[in-house]
Order: sequence, then C-alpha cells, then structure tokens
Amino acid sequence: MRALSFNAPDDVTLVETPTPEPGPGEALVRIEASAICGSELHARPGENPGHEAAGVVEQAPAGSGFAVGERVGISAVTGCGSCSWCRSGVQLYCTVDRRMHTAMHADRVAVPASALRRVPEGTPARDAVLISGDALGVPVRALRRAPSHAGERVLVLGAGPVGLGHVLVRAHAGAEVVVVEPSAYRRELALRLGATTALEPGEATGAAPALAIECTGIPACIQQALALVEPGGTVLQSGICRSVEVSPTATFVAREVTYTGAWYYADEDYPEIVRLYEQGLPAERLITHDFGAEEISAAYRAFVSKDSGKVVLDWTA
Ligand SMILES: [Zn+2]
Ligand SMILES: [Zn+2]
Repeated sequence: MRALSFNAPDDVTLVETPTPEPGPGEALVRIEASAICGSELHARPGENPGHEAAGVVEQAPAGSGFAVGERVGISAVTGCGSCSWCRSGVQLYCTVDRRMHTAMHADRVAVPASALRRVPEGTPARDAVLISGDALGVPVRALRRAPSHAGERVLVLGAGPVGLGHVLVRAHAGAEVVVVEPSAYRRELALRLGATTALEPGEATGAAPALAIECTGIPACIQQALALVEPGGTVLQSGICRSVEVSPTATFVAREVTYTGAWYYADEDYPEIVRLYEQGLPAERLITHDFGAEEISAAYRAFVSKDSGKVVLDWTA
C-alpha cells in the first residue's frame, strides 16, 4: 500500500509499505481522506505523522460494534479503556496506557477499535476527518472547557488551522469573534468563517474580550492575551507554547483572570461535536485545499505556505 515518507515539510514522498496487520482489539481501516495538522511540521525524518483520517472499516474485532464497510472517523488518542479516567470519558488523562496513533497518511491503518468514531449516516469522508480529528475536536473541547455565550466577545490570537477552528465554533455559538493574525489570507478566511473583525498584530483590539483563545504559543502573545482579557475573564491556551513570565498577583489575584488550556479532544466531547455538525456547523469551510494522495508534496507545500486552512488528501484517487 501507499504511505507517506516524511523527511521534512518540503521533502515528502509516497512509498510502498506492507499493509498493517491489526493486532488483538484492533481494526483495519481503508483510509479515504486524511488531513494535515500543524504539529506534523515538527515530525522526525522517517515518520508518518498523519493523525487525522477517516475511511471504511475493513476488519473490526468481534464485539466492537463496528461493521465491515462502515465509514468511520479515527481519533488519534486512546486510553486503556478501564481506568477511572477512561471510564469517565477522558482518555486524555489515562496514565495506564495512553497511546497516540499516527501513520494515517496511508491507504490503510490499524488502530484500536476504541479509536473508531461513528459518523452520522451519509457524512462525506472529508467531513468525517474534520469531526473525528483535531479540526473540530480541538475547538469543541475548548468550547466545553471555556464556554462562550451568544453576543460575548472572544479574541482569537493566531488563525492557523487550529485558530480557524476556534473561530468557526465560537461564531457558530453566537460569539462576536475578533481575530489577530499576520497572514492576510487567513484573516480573510477567518472573516468567511464568521469572525466579525480580523486584525494584523499590533492593531488595537477594541473592547476587552470575556475570553481570549491563544493559539500562537508565543510568550508575548500569551502576555498580551492575559492583559487584554476583561477582569474576571478567561484565557484559554490552545496547543503547545513556550514558557512565559507572568505576575500571578497582578493577573490572577488583582484581575481574577483564569488561565486554562485544552489539548486535543476526549471521548466525552465527541457527542457534542456530532451534535454541532448535525445542527449545521459548516465544518467543510475549514478546508481550503484538496489534493489526491499522489500530490502529497504539493499538499504539504500548500500547507506550509500559510495561504491555506485545512489541507485534505484524497486516498481514493
Ligand atoms: Zn494534530
Ligand atoms: Zn485509562
């Protein structure tokens, strides 16, 4: 089968590899679509960092509840399934056997059956990738951890694929979304996804937001978010960031700001993701580029250029 061989973001190819053999408790999925995630740009040579994919079940373990031929999305994170965190739907916190699954830029992948996500009847594969992976998973977990209400001001710092997902989900929830992003292409895209204002870094952001979602990981931006949010407001850190110097007295005591974070999404978040999708959340607007699997190096080029949102590969081509 075909699979990605990653050397560097500007040096990727498809290679022939053996089809994976599903182990005990694992399912084999024929991939129909996969999406590129920003974290892949830091992959090591020789890896296949793909972890957002959807396809058709070819083999499923007995008792999994999934049928051969069924279209599914795939979660990149599974837990042991039996500890108290896993049983309460937060496999992200599992310390017994938390595993992250990759190798999904390929014709087939073997993953634990607990990674499979049932998608609504008739969901296209490229939408299934979005609802079962980072694209909607990250912003919906963030929404559940730091809710925003209709009419509330939300500031999103950084409108890469993650920030754009936050824009889409918060705008759908009725928030007034202000975006700060250096790329003109992505500012334009943020407006199409429902942001009311899209600014360049350094421009005045207007009235203090109740919530700031920090997606750049840059220390100066984190400090800016903590300073700009209204007293009693919340800053949600989305994704990894560097260390930053903060005055707890000035920020958390005097201004009573809450600083929290969210990573990926948990089993418990999935019903809400599906509910929003079925309610008409226009997830597909996050996708700006579609490529056939054979065009994988052009796909990475489009992703790295930053003149893109989600970039999706079609493995049926
Ligand atoms: Zn990711
Ligand atoms: Zn567990």
